[in-house]
Amino acid sequence: MRTQLDTLVAGALQQGSAVPAFTCYDFTTALAVVGAAEESGRGAILLVAPKTAATPNGLRLIAALRGLADAASVPIAVQLDHATDPQVIADAVSAGADSVLVDGSSLPYEDNIALVRNLRAALAAQGRADVVIEAELGGLAGDEDRAFGTAAADSAGSTVADAPAGLTDSAQVEDFVARTGAQLLAVAVGNVHGKYKGEPRLRWDVLQDIAVRTRIPLVLHGASGIPAEELVKAAAMNVGKVNFNTELRTGVLAVLEEQTTAHRADGENLQALLGLWNVSARTFAATALATLSR
Ligand SMILES: [Zn+2]
Repeated sequence: MRTQLDTLVAGALQQGSAVPAFTCYDFTTALAVVGAAEESGRGAILLVAPKTAATPNGLRLIAALRGLADAASVPIAVQLDHATDPQVIADAVSAGADSVLVDGSSLPYEDNIALVRNLRAALAAQGRADVVIEAELGGLAGDEDRAFGTAAADSAGSTVADAPAGLTDSAQVEDFVARTGAQLLAVAVGNVHGKYKGEPRLRWDVLQDIAVRTRIPLVLHGASGIPAEELVKAAAMNVGKVNFNTELRTGVLAVLEEQTTAHRADGENLQALLGLWNVSARTFAATALATLSR
C-alpha cells in the first residue's frame, strides 16, 4: 500500500525498529523484497539508483515498482536514491517515485543546502510538495552500484572502497536540517558503499552526537557487511532507515553463477532460474527485515 516514507520510518522507530531499503535494478528483485515484506507484515523501501532512473527503461521500472508498491498488503515506498540532477528527479517523481535522496554530500556545505532547497522548490513547482526528501551530510566512500570501489587495490589485488571520505560533522546537523527542511538525514559514521576494507568500524560516538541534535530519523547507507548486532544498536540511536545493496547483489549473482549451467541443460530454463533469483533476494530481505525489528 502507498505510504509516506517519513511516516513509515517514524512508525518503525516508535516500535524500536528501522525500515530496510533495498536497491532494485530489476523487477524480480523488487517482487522478492515486497514478498518478504508482506510475509513479515512490515513495510520496506524499494530504492532506484540514479543511473537506472536516467534511462527510459528505468522510468518504466519505477512505474512498475509504483504499481507493485500500491498493490502490496504492507506499506512500501519507492525512493530515488542519491540524486542530484533536477531532470532525473522530476522524471522519476512523475514516473512514480514518492521520495528522493537529494545527495549534495560531495558539495561544499552551503552548496549542499542550496541543492536540497532548490530541488524541493522545483518539486513544489511540479505540484509535488508531497515528495519526501532525504538529504545527506558527510561523504560516503565507495561506489553505490558496485561491490568494489575504484579505489586503490588491497594486498590481495582486489579493490575495495576507500576509508570513509568524511564523517558527518555533528555541529552542522541542526543548522543543516533546519535550512534544508529534510525529512530524513543520511549520515556518514564510518559506513561505506560497497565492501568494507577489513572490519566495518562504525563511530558510535559520532552517531550519538548526531542523534541528540535532531529529531528527524537518521539513515545508514552501506549497511552490507555491518554485523547484525551493530545494526540493531543503530536502530536505538534514531536510525530509522537502513540501505542494503551490495550483499543483495552478491547473493543473487552467486546463485546465478552456480545454477546457470544446470538450467541451460534443463532446456534454457530461464523461469526456474528467475525463481532462484527471487528466493535469494527474498531470503536476504527477510533476514534484514527480521534483524531491524529485533
Ligand atoms: Zn547510498
